[in-house]
Amino acid sequence: KRTISTEFTEEDARLEPTLRPQHLSDYIGQQKIKDNLSVYIQAAKQRGDALDHVLLYGPPGLGKTTLAGIIANEMGVNMKITAGPAIEKPGEMAAILTKLQDGDVLFVDEIHRLNRQVEEVLYPAMEDYVIDIVIGKGPSARSVRLDLPKFTLIGATTRAGMLSAPLRDRFGVVNRMEFYTPEELADIVEHSARILDVEIDEEGAMELARRSRGTPRLANRLLKRVRDFAQIKYDGKIDKKVTDFALDLLEVDKLGLDNTDRQIIETMIHHFGGGPVGLETLAVSIGEDAGTLEDVYEPYLVQNGLILRTPRGRMASDLAYRHFGIEKPED
Ligand code: ADP
Repeated sequence: KRTISTEFTEEDARLEPTLRPQHLSDYIGQQKIKDNLSVYIQAAKQRGDALDHVLLYGPPGLGKTTLAGIIANEMGVNMKITAGPAIEKPGEMAAILTKLQDGDVLFVDEIHRLNRQVEEVLYPAMEDYVIDIVIGKGPSARSVRLDLPKFTLIGATTRAGMLSAPLRDRFGVVNRMEFYTPEELADIVEHSARILDVEIDEEGAMELARRSRGTPRLANRLLKRVRDFAQIKYDGKIDKKVTDFALDLLEVDKLGLDNTDRQIIETMIHHFGGGPVGLETLAVSIGEDAGTLEDVYEPYLVQNGLILRTPRGRMASDLAYRHFGIEKPED
């Protein structure tokens, strides 16, 4: 498993509420998404309407849940949070929907994991704010249509491609979350350091940012680890030296790659001659599920030009060979 993963953990559950920004203006990065959302939010508020349904997609830890909370906050409504795998029956979804208040946000994380019957409850709910429920059994069963309050569904997913077309089409606003630049992450790190009451200098924040795979959750997590080293091994203050020391120990390299990333690329190079190798084959060789490889590990490696996606499969780039100090064999 990863030394430092981007998956949500117990520690996050304790700490994230304090680190989460509350307003659009405190939400760093994702400028295009913010610009558009602030117009939609203002317009909906002016009309006294619920905001249109919003789909947020992208790798874990990029701020989807945080942004959903901000949207609800800016709209001045409550947010109910649930997740695709948590809702098993259509009746459970109906119960959640009927309890919403006018204008409320319903946040559904991992929305691609809703099962078909549950998803079908959402179609009329999203489109016309109604649900159809069946009362009774057998020949006397009849369907009753119930009005719902006007609400906003915010769906989050790491896999937009796994969403069924009818569901995807019902989102008026579809946003792809981007990886954060090191400068943006440095801002986030400095902000979190203030909340955690730990001193960090500019160079230290920048180094941490560069090694955080473009991901705020990881930046916050690394900050906490580096803080421990600063406290025990140094004078408590985080600078570049402590950051380098701690992250080298944690085996997070200069590009933010960790043991799993290295394993992926080294496997491509040593076992598959640098590729092309199919996603499934690669996943099996590193003992990961293909979906996780594609959604969680690969996007950052592709974005940074270490892995190339070709029609015949994944390939290790020249940069990957150079980064790992491996001589690329002549063809
Ligand atoms: P996701 O839902 O995409 O997995 P989260 O919304 O849970 O990600 O964000 C993970 C952590 O990163 C949160 O603790 C949050 O404080 C922080 N974070 C995410 N995006 C931002 C941002 N734009 N500005 C500041 N902090 C952020």
